[in-house]
Amino acid sequence: SQEVKSDIEIAQECQMKPIRDIISGLGVKEQEWEPYGHYKAKLSLDVMDRLSGNEDGKVILVTAINPTPAGEGKSTCTVGLGQALSKIGKNAMIALREPSLGPTMGIKGGAAGGGYSQVVPMEDINLHFTGDIHAITTAHNALAAMMDNHIHRGNELGIDVRKVVWKRVMDMNDRSLREVVVGLGGPLKGVPRQSGFDITVASEIMAILCLATGLKDLRGRLASMVVAYTADDQPVTCADLGAEGALTLLLKDAVKPNLVQTLENTPALIHGGPFANIAHGCNSVIATKMASKLADFVVTEAGFGADLGAEKFLDIKARAGSIDPDLVVIVATVRALKMHGGVPKDQLKEENTEALRKGLANLEKHVETIRNFGLPHVVAVNRFIYDTDAETDLLMSWCEEQGINVELADVWAQGGEGGRALAERAVSLIEEGDKNFTPVYDVNQSIEEKIKLIATKVYGADDVEFSSYAKKQIGDYNRYGWDNLPICMAKTQYSLSDDPAKLGRPEGFTITVRELKPSVGAGFIVALTGDVMTMPGLPQKPAALKMDVDENGKAVGLF
Ligand code: ADP
Repeated sequence: SQEVKSDIEIAQECQMKPIRDIISGLGVKEQEWEPYGHYKAKLSLDVMDRLSGNEDGKVILVTAINPTPAGEGKSTCTVGLGQALSKIGKNAMIALREPSLGPTMGIKGGAAGGGYSQVVPMEDINLHFTGDIHAITTAHNALAAMMDNHIHRGNELGIDVRKVVWKRVMDMNDRSLREVVVGLGGPLKGVPRQSGFDITVASEIMAILCLATGLKDLRGRLASMVVAYTADDQPVTCADLGAEGALTLLLKDAVKPNLVQTLENTPALIHGGPFANIAHGCNSVIATKMASKLADFVVTEAGFGADLGAEKFLDIKARAGSIDPDLVVIVATVRALKMHGGVPKDQLKEENTEALRKGLANLEKHVETIRNFGLPHVVAVNRFIYDTDAETDLLMSWCEEQGINVELADVWAQGGEGGRALAERAVSLIEEGDKNFTPVYDVNQSIEEKIKLIATKVYGADDVEFSSYAKKQIGDYNRYGWDNLPICMAKTQYSLSDDPAKLGRPEGFTITVRELKPSVGAGFIVALTGDVMTMPGLPQKPAALKMDVDENGKAVGLF
């Protein structure tokens, strides 16, 4: 049998075009872009102004069933569909999230697609890229420094040092920094207080960068971030510290989307990558919008499964960016559905149509959810080499019997060529235009009502319980005037319920909201249903142990 090449080997064999050639294909003007080396560029926001009168291209959202350790391949299918649309002669562009260095050094697994459906240069994309995440780190920590300085210099705003909520961030998995004490060492070294670090992609500034529609909106959102509370529980904001101007300045280049290409030279914007639990898990509004101005079709993705990623794309991002999606692609794999049907990870290579049939319930729920959003949809079956014909046939024919659009996608092994059928289907469903996009809730509903609607309609829960602490917080938020913000659910990605062990399609369960967290600048209230790790740790054998660079400066061992 043929030897399977690693993602990095495939990526390094690719004949990339100079980024200038990709740019000229998009009709971007000379003064509207800046090169970052030979294969990356930043696009100016002026592109949006120039094209503001143009009709938006069609937006295709790629989502998936609940993730399992078997892997679903959402990014792979996003890149593959973009390439396939180019193959069938469409003017297509891709908009993706930027990977964080923490998980890159920690858990092996690419974040730039896989196989013959990848974005390149993958080493750069997975490492420092164009420095956007570093800029966010600096902006976040500048605010922390300004706040600690304010406290040190007399604390005119009356910040209660026990009620500071703004931590520091770093783009690394480092569990030793989760809890720290700052300001030790006497009166010249600040005011001692307990604090901690989050990973940069969990910073509210990352969520803001991804929801802002331009520099002015970015500045306004940064200004309203809550950093602390006073002794009598009044919120203290970034604007109270006068820091929003400096923070916006630090982000003036990070706000510009980054252009790269796929292995088949389809243009791709990679911009922003917020957490998909305490934030909304989608690339920037600016990148998606700009792509929809530059191309006729934009393929973009949202984190985790449709219960988290697609719901947040449709209820948070689409609202913030006035994005009107045209089609949802739901990625499913035989392997993951078998896991939802009860097969353990080490037995996935064996044929098991019975478990597959059982696991289909998970797919069924997500299809219902997208149907309830009023959007056309198609299931993309991401093909793995161990899938048997009997299994693939069962999955495809089940969808057809249920009247669910379905196509086999072999984009990992074949690139765009393996996604032709999916691309043709996507285009024809979009042309039919049979949509009636309706978000799950109205922002003017109460915080409790909005959470209940998500839990019952999207997760299939019977009810929602609020802890007494959450109830108290809701009272406070109503007083602060934060009650008309959208909701960002922080729930396990593995289950439709808040219990990661309940696979498939759980029924008769209640969602428990333990605590809320305001992200007023980003413009949402986070509802926490379990513990959420905002500073991951490294595993026993970090992926970093395999990484190196050869004497010619070429990356090795990066996936
Ligand atoms: P997601 O976006 O759902 O997290 P990715 O697209 O990043 O998933 O894929 C995760 C990993 O699985 C990547 O290393 C990719 O190469 C691999 N992968 C995806 N699809 C396939 C496939 N059909 N066959 C083999 N490996 C795949």
